[in-house]
Amino acid sequence: MAKRGRLFVISGPAGAGKSEIVKTVLKKHPDVKLSVSCTTRAPRPGEVDGVSYHFVTEERFRQLIDEGAFYEWAHVHQNHYGTLKSAVRKELDAGNDLILEIDVQGCLQAMAQDPTVTGIFICPPSRENLEQRLRHRGTETEESIRVRLGNVAKEVAAAYQYHYVIIHQDWAVQPNALEIAADQVYAIMTARRLELDSQRDFLDGLNASLQA
Ligand code: 5GP
Repeated sequence: MAKRGRLFVISGPAGAGKSEIVKTVLKKHPDVKLSVSCTTRAPRPGEVDGVSYHFVTEERFRQLIDEGAFYEWAHVHQNHYGTLKSAVRKELDAGNDLILEIDVQGCLQAMAQDPTVTGIFICPPSRENLEQRLRHRGTETEESIRVRLGNVAKEVAAAYQYHYVIIHQDWAVQPNALEIAADQVYAIMTARRLELDSQRDFLDGLNASLQA
């Protein structure tokens, strides 16, 4: 029987470095796939439709909700975001491990419908570090930074609901912090793949051949 892929949710407050960590994992491990979400927020400079997100109107997003097209969706930072069922099904059926880089509400929805979903929470080392990263990103307005920082306490409190917590160190303290965090994500993915339940089919076959 062909092996199904596994679903990994990566969350963390804005500015904790989730996207850079995920990008690093994907670059090093082309076998890992990333789901492209739908969003109603406007593209940031450099973001490409269909690559960063599927940028859709509020009306189209509502339509997709009504059609039951979303695996999960949520209202985050004044915009709508959602993962398409079709994208999840396609990768898992093909046997690929899939990362969803989504918020806490989305992670809880995913865990509720599939107990094999693994939740990984990316934490900043401190509040000061988080604020600094958010400002240095230069893509946010002051208003958007204020909204996002206001949500951080709630987001970090939800980390207790995840299976794993990775601390993305300050690069000034640990120059290869990004590499380390990305390697930790992949280590979790590897460990999940090697669990007894994932290896059971192989073991059954090996045992049967040894007893023949
Ligand atoms: P950003 O606007 O910075 O790209 O993302 C804002 C937040 O929305 C981040 O926490 C990101 O993880 C989350 N997000 C992105 N896509 C999805 C999605 O499909 N579903 C949910 N629930 N959250 C998402």
